[in-house]
Amino acid sequence: RQSPNSFKIYSFMIEKNFDVIVVGGGHAGIEASLASARMGLRTLLLTLDIDKIGQMSCNPAMGGIAKAHLIKEIDALGGEIALATDECAISTKMLNVRKGPAVWSLRAQVDRKAYRERMKKVVMNTKNLTVFQEEVVNLIIDKYRVIGLKTSLGYEFYAKAIVLTTGTFLGGKIYVGYNTKPAGRLGESPSIELSKQLREIFNISRLKTGTSPRIDGRTIDFSKLKIDEPDNPPRGFSFRNPYLKIEQIPCYITYSNEKTHDIVMKNIHLAPMYNGLIKSKGPRYCPSFETKVIEFFKEVKSHRIILEPDGRDTNEWYLNGFSTSLPLEVQYEMLRTIPGLENAIILRPGYAVEYDFVDPRELYPWLETKKLENLFLAGQINGTTGYEEAASQGIIAGINAALRALNKEPFYLTRQDGYIGVLIDDLITKGADEPYRMLTSRNEYRLIHRMDNAYDRLSEYGYKLGLLSYEDYKLIKEKIDIVNNEIRRLREVRVKSFEINPKLKEIGEAEVKDSISLFDLLKRNNVRYEHLLRWGYGKVEDRTLIEKIEIEVKYEGYIKRLLEEAKRLQKIEKYIIPNDINYNLISNISNEGKDKLMKYKPKTLGQALRIPGIKPTDVINLYYYLQKVGN
Ligand code: FAD
Repeated sequence: RQSPNSFKIYSFMIEKNFDVIVVGGGHAGIEASLASARMGLRTLLLTLDIDKIGQMSCNPAMGGIAKAHLIKEIDALGGEIALATDECAISTKMLNVRKGPAVWSLRAQVDRKAYRERMKKVVMNTKNLTVFQEEVVNLIIDKYRVIGLKTSLGYEFYAKAIVLTTGTFLGGKIYVGYNTKPAGRLGESPSIELSKQLREIFNISRLKTGTSPRIDGRTIDFSKLKIDEPDNPPRGFSFRNPYLKIEQIPCYITYSNEKTHDIVMKNIHLAPMYNGLIKSKGPRYCPSFETKVIEFFKEVKSHRIILEPDGRDTNEWYLNGFSTSLPLEVQYEMLRTIPGLENAIILRPGYAVEYDFVDPRELYPWLETKKLENLFLAGQINGTTGYEEAASQGIIAGINAALRALNKEPFYLTRQDGYIGVLIDDLITKGADEPYRMLTSRNEYRLIHRMDNAYDRLSEYGYKLGLLSYEDYKLIKEKIDIVNNEIRRLREVRVKSFEINPKLKEIGEAEVKDSISLFDLLKRNNVRYEHLLRWGYGKVEDRTLIEKIEIEVKYEGYIKRLLEEAKRLQKIEKYIIPNDINYNLISNISNEGKDKLMKYKPKTLGQALRIPGIKPTDVINLYYYLQKVGN
């Protein structure tokens, strides 16, 4: 394809040899290329469209249950996603607040365009990082080692390590009802040639995901909607931004009804997921609207739909909970039945996309492929779904590509280290037979791996790898030290009964006999750190640090129990599961758990634990059940 002439011009224009090349400017590719460049390696980011760097393909939101933990961990390692989210957040909320701070999860609605522009800016201004817009069509392989890449215009680039983060683009095909076309996302070309070559090397299957229609805000009747206010004050994801100073705007809520569901049922033969056009599996925890209607038709008469603004200066609105690939005219028919959306005009149709992914069991924990040395994979290409899951793998792959180029030992996280460790361990040991999304229940250490302590667990790695600056690391360490010193002091200082009892009486707490440590005092249900401050026993004023102290003290018992549970999981590995077990009789195993156990029929609890989709809690509950019924 390449004439000698064109190569000559090209060799003047751009360097041909790099330390690391990252393919794809999505959420994985951004973190990978930034990590590599920040570690001092000459890095090239090749992507299909420079203006789409950091594009959020589906809902414009970051975080939420378990995903927020991933963002915090990336931040602790020195990644970019938390900072960008904080800068572009428009509606921020802490989820799970009724359940206690250990399981709180931050979620932020993000200005889609601002986020893209913010990410493009940082990528284009990072030292050691070169960006080039081109489609990669081939890996250049020397025996069992990847040494370079070829692009669609015939250019060749060489590197010591290469990271592929091609998202939903590999062999991508989109569906809007009976209309279908090759595409990575609506309006963007797929990556076909690269997919062909990868199919010859790796075990590749297909998965599906989908998104909702976007509608024109001028055609929404907001008077019929319930307002969903953001938090005040809004919190940030990054340790640098405990609270955000930018004004937040609300989201709105409406509900589908039986009329909407009847339309789905009447047209289900036109839904590509149900008429055989789409054969691959979609995300269980982000189901399409048609799936929700079909699966819960009898029990659930209405589904919640959240109207989320796409940005501050746009009329585009995203319908969270309304992902569909029914034909456009059916999408319209459905909207006509939903309060507030009766006259809504669709700006972009909802659609589904099917794409290739590589079996992640082909990877080492540092995300290098076992078959081809120096090739790293991260993001949706490994069978995951979600920006946060992609970014988590991106930073690990980028770090390791850089370490490879430096001829250094790989870096990886274990399940004990945090959610990123759990995510990668699940992928490489269990594989993905449906799009993998992070959930707290996948993590047997979930009470220990909280958002608030991500920095205690991981920031030292970030600093040592050169991704966190000395100033940032010092700031983090200072905060950690304040908390640890205060907890130590709370354990040491005791107060006498005559001094504390009148105060306890005021808040309805039982009296103490002789004396009590401040630690045990704070452990009591009704005693908060603010009481200690008011009574003259507290030393820390910073609200976020106070929350952390309270969690450490109040959840001490749970944390111990959880650690024991994790140990027990290791011990019960060889426990035999009887052949005639009826999983439907076990009430506290998740539906996904039951489906998978029935499908794979494991012989031991250890085998059950390694099935994709089986959570540690499922296995513990199965163990308790087997003990109860006398096995
Ligand atoms: P992407 O963000 O897809 O980025 C891939 C990048 O690779 C792009 O920049 C592309 O230009 C580039 N690229 C691809 N091929 C080449 C090539 N050959 N050469 C050069 N560059 C290339 N997630 C959820 O959590 N919930 C959902 O409900 C959900 N729904 C989705 C619906 C749709 C329709 C889509 C498309 C995605 C959805 N996602 C959802 C997934 C989410 O968008 C992805 O998980 C996330 O963006 C993956 O990040 P990534 O970095 O792996 O890939």
